[in-house]
Amino acid sequence: MTTLVKEETKTNIMKALIYHGPTQRAWEDKPKPSIKDTTDAIIRITTSTICGTDLHIMKGDVPSVINGRILGHEGVGIVEETGAGVTQFKKGDKVLISCITSCGKCDYCKKGMYSHCRNGGWILGNTIDGTQAQYVRIPHADNSLYKAPPDVDEEALVMLSDIFPTGFECGVINGQVKPGDKVAIVGSGPIGLAALLTAQFYSPAMLILIDQDDNRLKVARAFGATHTINFKTEKVEERVKALTNGDGVDVAIEAVGVPSSFETCQNIIGPGGRIANIGVHGKPAELHLEKLWDRNITITTRLVDTVTTPMLLKVLQSGKLDAKRMGTHKFALSDVMKAYDTFGNAAKENALKVILKG
Ligand SMILES: [Zn+2]
Ligand SMILES: [Zn+2]
Repeated sequence: MTTLVKEETKTNIMKALIYHGPTQRAWEDKPKPSIKDTTDAIIRITTSTICGTDLHIMKGDVPSVINGRILGHEGVGIVEETGAGVTQFKKGDKVLISCITSCGKCDYCKKGMYSHCRNGGWILGNTIDGTQAQYVRIPHADNSLYKAPPDVDEEALVMLSDIFPTGFECGVINGQVKPGDKVAIVGSGPIGLAALLTAQFYSPAMLILIDQDDNRLKVARAFGATHTINFKTEKVEERVKALTNGDGVDVAIEAVGVPSSFETCQNIIGPGGRIANIGVHGKPAELHLEKLWDRNITITTRLVDTVTTPMLLKVLQSGKLDAKRMGTHKFALSDVMKAYDTFGNAAKENALKVILKG
């Protein structure tokens, strides 16, 4: 009897990456999640990854994340259990977990604005426990999970939880990238590179990547950038003007989240251009209306809605999106502490995305 009880207790415990306040994290035991609402599903994580946002959380920049929270909002896994109200998924299905949880029923969801779902939004690894764990509970499973296409590599698939829909929706779609456009992307991290890859759906004439890290700019050229500018050693405005007959670019995508990168976009945008902000900003940035008031430009902001995920899954399945290339480092999920150290030193480690294997 004793051994049976012991066994039972053991199966209700899992391991997870827990946030314990700024700079404090641990790989610890946690109770396995269980179904709370009929629309929930429990997923066993097989692949996860760490986001730049997780590093912001670790710095204490995201006050909604409390001590004891399991981090992570990206993942692929196997459905372990579903609530009675889940109709689209069953035990054993392989699924992609969207970074945005959405009910599909509220007014914002009906407008396709899942990011502002009244019953969800970005909650995973934020206000509810996330995906850097052996198991995760996904609310509104029917609308927040996607069936993994057969024969798609999991390490490519996990890039569609967050970075590809984010780069595409907030950068490329909001920037209205068109054939023949001259496009600049400020920031050559995973999100900037996802924007770079998905901008190529529209055959822009020019794709200029701007960063301070020569290695990331080298990667950008391999991913299809036509030009790169290191803002530490080169004058960005002058070079962009020289490349665009003095006009500036049609689209400037901000993929960093600091005031200077948003100001760079304003300095290089041409008449009629679109500035699409992706970055998560913690400080105010100056808006130079004295220069821009007569330039016919549009500025957009957006939190990813993940409404393009079904489309991106089809492109991935067709082999036309090289998402797997974004994963530069691989760790066992149980080595997530080490993975954070590597991702936290991304420039030194030449890291883009670190893959965590469950
Ligand atoms: Zn993210
Ligand atoms: Zn909703």
